[in-house]
Amino acid sequence: MTISNRLKQSSEWGAVCRPDSAQPLQLETVKCCICGTEEVEPLAVGEDFEYRTSPDFFLAVQCRRCRLVYLSPRPALTEFDRIYPPDYHAFDFSADQFGLAYRVRRWLEARRLLACCQSLGPRARILDVGCGDGFHLSLLKQFGKPSWQLEGVDASERAVEAGRKAGLTIHLGTVQAADLPAASYDLAFLIATIEHVDNPTEVLAAVRRLLRPGGRVVIVTDNTDAWDFHLFKRRYWGGYHFPRHWTLFNSANMRTLAQAVEMEVVQLTTVVSPVNWVYSIRNALVDWRAPGWLVRQFSLKSTLSLGVFTLFDMVLQKLGRGALMRATLQRPQGSLPEESTQRLRG
Ligand SMILES: [Zn+2]
Repeated sequence: MTISNRLKQSSEWGAVCRPDSAQPLQLETVKCCICGTEEVEPLAVGEDFEYRTSPDFFLAVQCRRCRLVYLSPRPALTEFDRIYPPDYHAFDFSADQFGLAYRVRRWLEARRLLACCQSLGPRARILDVGCGDGFHLSLLKQFGKPSWQLEGVDASERAVEAGRKAGLTIHLGTVQAADLPAASYDLAFLIATIEHVDNPTEVLAAVRRLLRPGGRVVIVTDNTDAWDFHLFKRRYWGGYHFPRHWTLFNSANMRTLAQAVEMEVVQLTTVVSPVNWVYSIRNALVDWRAPGWLVRQFSLKSTLSLGVFTLFDMVLQKLGRGALMRATLQRPQGSLPEESTQRLRG
């Protein structure tokens, strides 16, 4: 299919035609971030099925040693603004845009977040890393203890601006570069974040540095142990989110990552989510050039498909195979708060 045909079709499927989407992205080859090797097997070839930000085909590979799944080659960091277009859903997940799906997700997410906060005292300091426009922070503000100190950090100016407008405290930049106090936070969240970053080990090491000894981080990410991955992994799996998800973990990879940054695994479990099911089917329909009305039944706005696959994934979650993975890691209690002593000396 020619590029112009593909663009025309993608606009019929509901994606937006972008002025620069005919230009290929600048791509770079990377190694496995867990074991540092380049011994991989090709796993999937896909496209930006959802946003059509470029005409490129992308390759997901699997490390032969540790089974980590990752995108290589992947977009250069300079392509950030292109692969996250202004209508990217993390920047505008609002009631106006998403209706009932938004209200149900808010309710579910609030329950999940508060369950992670049960052991926190009234003066707890909480950091949401990769907070986007502050969806989770606003839930904590609304339903959590009013005395909690809530902060977010995100590298997208657009997202940070939106969050600040909503009255939230959000630092602009990456968690590695932002000027945040070491050994100060009781709890950090990395929700749908670690799969997007260029160096997960560096990000997690930076989060560890910011946590008090005994402080915890809750990581929620796509799960390559899940059934939806095994069914759709050759091309359509929603968790690839081509070309924005760069690293995709199974539970063993997550344990290795925790070990690499000297954090203890407190809990490793799976969480129900219909999103990868819905998007895997959507991607297949888009690729098979199914009619627009059918494709639209599988999106973040389609209450019916989200509902059906939530119920389905609830069954899988009972079997330990929910679509998302949730890891709770702890900075060891006995670990020296070396950074804070340095700060006092300085
Ligand atoms: Zn590896």
